[in-house]
Amino acid sequence: MPARYCEVALPVPLRSTFTYVLPASLESKLDGQPLIGRRVVVPFRRRAMIGVVLAESAKLPNIARGASSSAASPAAGGSAAAAAPAIREIAEVMDPLPALPAKLIELGEWISRYYLAPIGETFRGMLPPEVEVRHERGYSLTDAGRAYLDTLSQKLTLADAERAEAELLRRFDTAQAADAASESRARRRKRVDEVAAEGLVRRGYLAARDVLRHRETRKQKIVAWRPEGGERPFGQPEKRVREVLRDAGVPLPLEMLLEKAAVTPLVVKRLESAGMVLTWEEPIVAGEDPWDTDFTPPANVLNAEQNAALADIWRWLVAGKFAAGLLHGVTGSGKTEVYLGAVEATLSRGKSAIVLVPEIALTLWVGRLVRARFGEHVAVLHSGLHDTERSREWWRVRNGEARIVVGTRSAIFAPLENLGLIIVDEEQESSYKQEETPRYHGRDTAVYRARLEGAVALLGSATPSLETYHNALGGKYQLLQLTSRVENRPLAAVRIVDLREEFRRQHRATPVSESLRAAIALRLEEKTQAMVLINRRGYSWSLMCRGCGALVQCENCSIALTYHKSRQRLECHYCGYSIRPPKQCPKCNSEYMYYVGDGAERVEEYLREQFPAARIARLDRDTVRTKREYQQVLGAFAKGEIDILVGTQMVAKGHDFQRVTLVGVVAADLALGRPDFRAAEKTFQLLTQVAGRAGRGELSGEVLVETYYPEHYAIQYAAQQDYVSFYEKEAQFRRLLHYPPFTALASVLVRDRKVENAIRWSRALAAYFAPFEERGVKILGPAAAPLARLRRDYRFQFVLKSPHRAVLGKALAGALDFCAAKQFPETAVIVDVDPISLS
Ligand code: ADP
Ligand code: ZN
Ligand code: ZN
Repeated sequence: MPARYCEVALPVPLRSTFTYVLPASLESKLDGQPLIGRRVVVPFRRRAMIGVVLAESAKLPNIARGASSSAASPAAGGSAAAAAPAIREIAEVMDPLPALPAKLIELGEWISRYYLAPIGETFRGMLPPEVEVRHERGYSLTDAGRAYLDTLSQKLTLADAERAEAELLRRFDTAQAADAASESRARRRKRVDEVAAEGLVRRGYLAARDVLRHRETRKQKIVAWRPEGGERPFGQPEKRVREVLRDAGVPLPLEMLLEKAAVTPLVVKRLESAGMVLTWEEPIVAGEDPWDTDFTPPANVLNAEQNAALADIWRWLVAGKFAAGLLHGVTGSGKTEVYLGAVEATLSRGKSAIVLVPEIALTLWVGRLVRARFGEHVAVLHSGLHDTERSREWWRVRNGEARIVVGTRSAIFAPLENLGLIIVDEEQESSYKQEETPRYHGRDTAVYRARLEGAVALLGSATPSLETYHNALGGKYQLLQLTSRVENRPLAAVRIVDLREEFRRQHRATPVSESLRAAIALRLEEKTQAMVLINRRGYSWSLMCRGCGALVQCENCSIALTYHKSRQRLECHYCGYSIRPPKQCPKCNSEYMYYVGDGAERVEEYLREQFPAARIARLDRDTVRTKREYQQVLGAFAKGEIDILVGTQMVAKGHDFQRVTLVGVVAADLALGRPDFRAAEKTFQLLTQVAGRAGRGELSGEVLVETYYPEHYAIQYAAQQDYVSFYEKEAQFRRLLHYPPFTALASVLVRDRKVENAIRWSRALAAYFAPFEERGVKILGPAAAPLARLRRDYRFQFVLKSPHRAVLGKALAGALDFCAAKQFPETAVIVDVDPISLS
């Protein structure tokens, strides 16, 4: 076997892969099996890292990038012979089965190219969680450290700091010969002050390295009776052991056996040496998800529209080629049934399916429906799972035990093979866009993956994104429509409450308008339920000074702090900074401070004042922090134990409540005030979605929308629930102002703690971008970003637009190379391709 060179993607913010060679010792174990898709442990700089092999070849690649201990930048190797010594060896091959199937490697490479994301970070998000290993930091004394320690030892008197240093250095002096395990034992005995140790590393007295240790999986001993063991004379305890095992009919864990048979371990040991029982070790598996067993899904007979949609999907599946479809169905039209039918059809053709939902809470609901229908074949994947749980689900999928995956955004990377269908429910949701590296869009990635796998991508929505509807009209996606609610239930009637008029009548502004208050009172009398949506957390939006007009701002961000009454804090929702509300203005010392704007906490309080007998609950990130709490609140609401549910947009999505007859939207136009090209679209979507929560059962529903801009088209068309008219109007603006879907858009953010740096780098980038203007790229900026300061960083922004995506891509890729060549810090420049928002 010739040497094998591998391109390994490592979880570092660099855009290149690194070359390693497989040593003969590992080759003998691998026996020529391919390495692509396998995870490997490799040395990188001074650490051991887990990466994934993307390519291998028998020849040293022309430009090999050896990860030598110092070089961060790719070091070019000349001839193979000259470069060979620089190529380091793979330390370990982790997986018996390649973790990533070939198509996922292609998908990751596409993401890295299209979204200009570092390749290693892209793949890190696709791999299973690293539950089998843990990272440890190990230190050893350097020669300089020993010399320094000698100097210190000879000094007569030591300063406190010196004494501490000497003590720390001395610990590693004795530990030097020992291995990392004893270091970690030493550390457990007395924790190493890592800050101090790192300080000594910087001064060259200690050397540090990261080591990977395999975590011991917890094992348990299993005991089985050997039928061929024969009958030998034995006493009562041995007989009890035999009874218990015979009754159980299966091998039992030792612990359980000892307890049930009331014997000591010695008895089992005796039986084992006599050859009567067999014992072995098995890993302890984490408890199975105790999902509801008493849940019976509704047995719906599909209506004509649902059947027609499903028939089309069947045809695409039978054709066995890539197809993308948009299922545009009004709220309550029964899209979920169509999804389930499509999954069933996929399974019946021997293929697998992914169902993406926009948030974790919906994985519970949809996961339940899917499990009720398809049983064990279902795996659920989302970021809210513990690593061990997620790892278990991930490997169930990889091993082919689960053939349907329900999950959030990252479940698009589920390692299914033979994929036939990907469903993206509520495809317009911004949660499908990842707002950190790699900045991919889950929906677009789904369509691309379907293309790679020759599968069907089915995007569903009542309010499709402009991009998706544009694609459907243009024939890129096929359009399926559900135009009416199931059983011809009417859509909820939407009434607009003009807040200007309310104020004229009432001469005061209350947290909830008089009209909405009256409508809620009616529901309480009728004993049906109401939902109130207020898309702002906290009690008051901000604290203002009457003396100078300033809002109390975050110390780290250019944003006003939000008042949370229950915690008595002013909080930044971006960075978590919080303070006690000041009595005096921090700027001018005026004592006249007042709170402006009502948030969800205040609305809830107001409703409690107005309706003391009502059962009221609030659902937002302040009241529910875990999925269990979330489930509890929604469960109570579904069971009718809550009369009024107040919440942020968390309440707007997807849930199916039968007794809700009123939905009130407080401050419906909040988003319209933002400088965001999607403001109208977001407002329209939110209002339509939330209106869709009303009147889903037998009872008809009403929606009240409070606004200061009743004439705005987003509000008007939402009230009429007229998607197509909204699309046409909004598309006109987008075309005119050169925004997606009529142009490709990207934003480039330059940030740094020091404003001078951010400005200098932005200027350099501006000069780099300038020539692209001639090639049809419109370049706006650099200008202060809408959030000019965030988490202490000053931020400048470019907005790039081009009708030619390829040119835009070139400009961006070139910009990153330019930044690397100029040695701007890796984290200083953020490229966002197809950004969801520019703010
Ligand atoms: P959407 O996602 O389109 O808003 P859902 O899929 O949640 O709508 O369906 C709304 C409700 O209609 C659910 O309670 C579902 O069980 C019910 N439903 C779906 N299809 C039918 C049908 N053919 N007949 C009767 N009820 C149905
Ligand atoms: Zn002031
Ligand atoms: Zn902040």
